[in-house]
Amino acid sequence: MIHSTEKKQNIQHILAFNLTSGQRVFYLEEPEYCIGRYSKNSIFINAEGISRQHATLIKKQKKNAPFSYILIDGNNQGDKSTNGLMVNGEIIEEVELKHGDTIHFTRDVKAHYYIIDNRSQEFIDKLKPKVFSNAIYPKNNTLSSDTQIVQSTAKKPSLSEIKNLASVVELSPIPIVEINYQGTITYLNPSANLKFPNLQKAQLEHPLLKGLIEKQNYKNGSLVIREFDIENQSFEQHIHYLAQEQLIRSYIFDITQRKQAENNLKYHAFHDNLTGLPNRSSFNQKISLISQNSQRYQKLFAILFLDIDNFKNINDTLGHNIGDHILQYFAQRLSSQARKSDFVCRWGGDEFVVLLTEIKSPDQAAKFSQRLLKSFEYPLQIEGHEIYLKCSVGIAIYPEDGKDVEILIKNADSALYRTKEYGRNHYQFYNPQMSVEIAENFTLENQLHQAIKNGELILHYQPQINIKTGEIYGLEALIRWKNPQLGLIRPNKFIPLAEKTGLILPMGEWVLKTACQQNKKWQQMGLPPVRISVNLSAQQLQQPNLLETVESTLEAVGLDPQWLELEVTESMLMKNTKLAKKTLDELRQMGVYISMDDFGTGYSSLGYLKKFPFDTLKIDQSFVKELNQSSEDVSIISAIMTLSRGFNMRVIAEGVENKEQLKLLRELDCEEMQGYLFSPPLNAEDILNYLLSFKEQKNLIFALP
Ligand code: C2E
Ligand code: MG
Ligand code: MG
Repeated sequence: MIHSTEKKQNIQHILAFNLTSGQRVFYLEEPEYCIGRYSKNSIFINAEGISRQHATLIKKQKKNAPFSYILIDGNNQGDKSTNGLMVNGEIIEEVELKHGDTIHFTRDVKAHYYIIDNRSQEFIDKLKPKVFSNAIYPKNNTLSSDTQIVQSTAKKPSLSEIKNLASVVELSPIPIVEINYQGTITYLNPSANLKFPNLQKAQLEHPLLKGLIEKQNYKNGSLVIREFDIENQSFEQHIHYLAQEQLIRSYIFDITQRKQAENNLKYHAFHDNLTGLPNRSSFNQKISLISQNSQRYQKLFAILFLDIDNFKNINDTLGHNIGDHILQYFAQRLSSQARKSDFVCRWGGDEFVVLLTEIKSPDQAAKFSQRLLKSFEYPLQIEGHEIYLKCSVGIAIYPEDGKDVEILIKNADSALYRTKEYGRNHYQFYNPQMSVEIAENFTLENQLHQAIKNGELILHYQPQINIKTGEIYGLEALIRWKNPQLGLIRPNKFIPLAEKTGLILPMGEWVLKTACQQNKKWQQMGLPPVRISVNLSAQQLQQPNLLETVESTLEAVGLDPQWLELEVTESMLMKNTKLAKKTLDELRQMGVYISMDDFGTGYSSLGYLKKFPFDTLKIDQSFVKELNQSSEDVSIISAIMTLSRGFNMRVIAEGVENKEQLKLLRELDCEEMQGYLFSPPLNAEDILNYLLSFKEQKNLIFALP
């Protein structure tokens, strides 16, 4: 009575005893066996130390799997044996037996439990006579069809032969499958049966056997390794072609875990953890495919470099947690704007790259950027903060802006850099001029580090004149860089670099100290005292210790605070208004003058004029430049004059270059001016001569129309 599943799977369960009286092998198939010294037991063992009902074997049926046997100590009424049971060296009360288990009933009475496969023909042929010669007949005394073989007189294998056979292939946890060249399964070990229950049914259609026969022209002993998947499991199959025997033998290894680990690693190697977007390595793979494709079919594609405006600030002020949220949100937004064929990746930090593939014209890249920028119109709410996200985009088009991937990337990056310079939240296409400028800037940036140390920085001074009194009101200190190769460089070229690299702070301190020292020197020379104006940079104003720096500089130099004026611009006040106000208020209290530079170019509200302690308002040169009778600038300057009177501020017009401008400004009641008409910024020596000969200058000024 072999169970139908068992029959299908040809599994046999064997309990092989090693007794002092000899070896006895039991072929198990009944639902229950009682083992012990009681002669009516189904497995009768008469030996010292064995209880009457020492142990019980109970068959356990399983769904879609071969049955197994549970071994319990004592009988099935719960009476335990006297000496107990050990399986694989451990005392047990109940255990599900596994292939190869060793059971000790006493120290001297031991048995082995095997699960073997019928198709191990050689094994079964040797085993069967032995099994049945010692087998206990089933309780109902009927013999199953297989038991007919009991009558066979074939040579009986020894227990050691059984063990040998069993231990090599049968015991192996590795599934082993053998088919002949005709495609008939000739052998399956128990492990193969357990692992691939559908093998019998599917036969050569099973992934494990598929295509094996087709390759039988392999030479004898050739080994082929392949992989296959069944549902969520992955296997590696080592296939031996045994031409002589006309057999194909496979050893199957479960590599699911390894595959998962590999996939995991692969995923992490090609994706960014935070946003889940592909990363730079992924991009490299993708772009090489895309560029090959575009080359072959002569198609355009666009690389867009993007970064989030002021991300560093957001991160610094609101914390990394919110910074991370923003990056995730940004990544989502970006992905949602992209089409399926586009590729979005995180480049690193707050930089992202989009590949727009197969575009028909560069215009599509512009449209994409516009859509993206527009999608950030509404603020993002995170942990009670309302954040307006903005980003900048640089675009390079293949093949126009580079046929080589590296160059394209560089150019898209240059375009982004440019976008940032031109005021953010915008997009910009690459143009070749950018590369030249960026290369220059790069060289400059490197040299700038040395400039302070090497004493290459100097100050020029430009007088500010009161045209009504003909007096010099003050001098503005303007920095210059005497570069050994490039000559005198104007601040607009290197101040942005100094800000980018943080060099602006030591540079700013140097300017402050030098200007104060110079002013003190002129006073010591007996010249009429003038106020020296020093331009502050945004970063300097953000320094919490600016007040102390100014105070200690004045003290060290011995200059009275009233002879120093600090110039700030509107945009600088917008960054950290609270701190800026506090610092400027304290500086004013100390006696230092404060002026608003480039007035009219920023977007700050007029409220700032009231809020901050400005003494002076400097009208930006752009208003003066095109000043003529009918220009709009006349009315703007006129409004500024009225306003400043209301706030009790002095007004200086910057960039006065000609008499016409002077005349108009005078008519508008603007008394103080600075510009080439009076003097360009001069180095220390020249300005000294200018100051010394000022009496003559004064006469000239009065002579002006
Ligand atoms: P700013 O403070 O508005 O300085 C006035 C600029 O106008 C100076 O340019 C000056 O040379 C120029 N200028 C004066 N008169 C005329 C004129 O009649 N016509 C024209 N077209 N221009 C005139 P400069 O020296 O190149 O400085 C440019 C800017 O660089 C300054 O603008 C200031 O914002 C910044 N800067 C200069 N020195 C320093 C410094 O020591 N520290 C910082 N942080 N910024 C500085
Ligand atoms: Mg200035
Ligand atoms: Mg200015």
